[in-house]
Amino acid sequence: MSLASSALLLTWGLSIRLEMSATIVWFRNDLRLADNPALFRALEKSEAVIPLFIWAPEEEEPWAPGGAHRWWLHSSLESLKESLKSIGSDLIIRRGSSLNVLREVINETNANAVFWNQGYLPALRDRDSIIDKSLSEEGVTARRFSGRLLHDPELIRTGSDKPYRVFTPFWKNLQASLDIAEPLPAPSSLPAPGKWPATDPLGDLELTAFAQDHVDWASQIRAFWRPGESGANDRLDAFVDEALIDYATRRNRPDKTGSSLLSPYLHHGELSPRQVWQKVNAWVQNAPMREAANSFLSEIGWREFAYHSLWHFPALPNKPLREKYAGFGWTDDAEQLRRWQQGRTGYPMVDAGMRQLWALGWMHNRVRMIVGSFLTKHLLIHWKHGQDWFWDTLVDGDLANNALNWQWVAGSGPDAQPFFRIFNPITQGERYDPEGAYVREWIPELRDLPTKYIHKPWEASPDVLENAGIVLGTTYPEPIVDHAQARKRALDALELIK
Ligand code: FAD
Repeated sequence: MSLASSALLLTWGLSIRLEMSATIVWFRNDLRLADNPALFRALEKSEAVIPLFIWAPEEEEPWAPGGAHRWWLHSSLESLKESLKSIGSDLIIRRGSSLNVLREVINETNANAVFWNQGYLPALRDRDSIIDKSLSEEGVTARRFSGRLLHDPELIRTGSDKPYRVFTPFWKNLQASLDIAEPLPAPSSLPAPGKWPATDPLGDLELTAFAQDHVDWASQIRAFWRPGESGANDRLDAFVDEALIDYATRRNRPDKTGSSLLSPYLHHGELSPRQVWQKVNAWVQNAPMREAANSFLSEIGWREFAYHSLWHFPALPNKPLREKYAGFGWTDDAEQLRRWQQGRTGYPMVDAGMRQLWALGWMHNRVRMIVGSFLTKHLLIHWKHGQDWFWDTLVDGDLANNALNWQWVAGSGPDAQPFFRIFNPITQGERYDPEGAYVREWIPELRDLPTKYIHKPWEASPDVLENAGIVLGTTYPEPIVDHAQARKRALDALELIK
């Protein structure tokens, strides 16, 4: 081959490399390979795919991810990186301003497109639009896909063309109007770029930093959960095979594993709602199965409703949707708030829930309602304090679900429980934890108390307490407030804003 022809080939090869279409897939809270529209379309359209995760918590302020969320994220990124490596790819991890990082990676790889799955958080709406516009102006194709929800919050509206504020008609409309497609398959291989850009080590993100006092607060969380896409699919399979049939009757029982435990997986996008929807519907073979499936899927519907609400009322995490509650007479008792957070209110059902939350980063839904009602009604502490604590401690801490549910509990949100419905923590305990197994699991100091007193230890005689090794006020607290008085105080406070 002549010198001239080899030079020509070299130039030709170079121009092929420069013209090779490469797409950055910007992973966010969609940390999965299967049913990932941005990834699937990138693979369809490009000769190289560059998976990228950018850690930019300041862009989510004032709702930068909480501690338990960060812990989960670390493991989830680790797992996603491994999965990508197993199909010939990798996950590039960077920290910094999202737009700057995208520009850097575009320059380093000659990528000509950036694909991502749409998010719905108020803080990221403007950011994403700016990024979309900037990249397009710079000649890079920016495309957003829908992978987090079953519905598009802009498309489902009431008959009078307004966003929904009531769940039941919203859910009916959503089910009638959507034709939910089969989930997209996970790619079996991903074409790599000619040269991989540099990645930061995952450890540099410091997602699992110990608390200041160097207590390993995540040890039980680590033992209980398996973050990542394969953990998510195993959990979904186990739930459908073993527990779904009894969901309607057992979902309210914190002493049984009746619910799916899918919330952190859905929150981090290790599983899509479409995957859950299709798997559950494929399982149905008869009327009792249909009933169980409908009961479960309506909870997925509440997740959709929460996102619908946050999209249309972005102030949901900050102020009451029903305006009269803006003038509600909340108290500001830091010591009572601390006792609630630490599970030391003296009401076993409340304390068990708060301790489960601290230990596992998760709490059963029924108990979330009980502790929420207790904080806002028995202690008259603003729901925002509860929302903040959950935000930092839940592995499923999700802006839409958390805000909607705290406003539901406090009576000020869309389709909320009226404020005058005040949960009695004793009867709630007796009804949903009849043997006291849940309380005994999370409050070992009450383990030997007879079931009759397990939800009201202060009614036990000194002999019974002594036999159970309990000294009220020392080994376990006296009730922080009297139930009947607290209830009256809450109803009086409600009268003032009527
Ligand atoms: P399942 O009963 O198996 O439900 C399946 C899925 O449906 C859940 O994983 C979740 O994605 C969704 N879902 C269930 N209940 C609700 C609901 N009431 N509202 C919205 N979606 C729901 N859920 C979160 O994911 N993140 C939160 O930050 C959150 N904060 C909450 C705060 C309060 C005060 C209350 C009362 C509830 C909160 N929830 C939150 C809703 C609910 O408690 C959890 O989704 C549920 O306990 C998760 O357990 P699971 O996956 O076993 O639920």
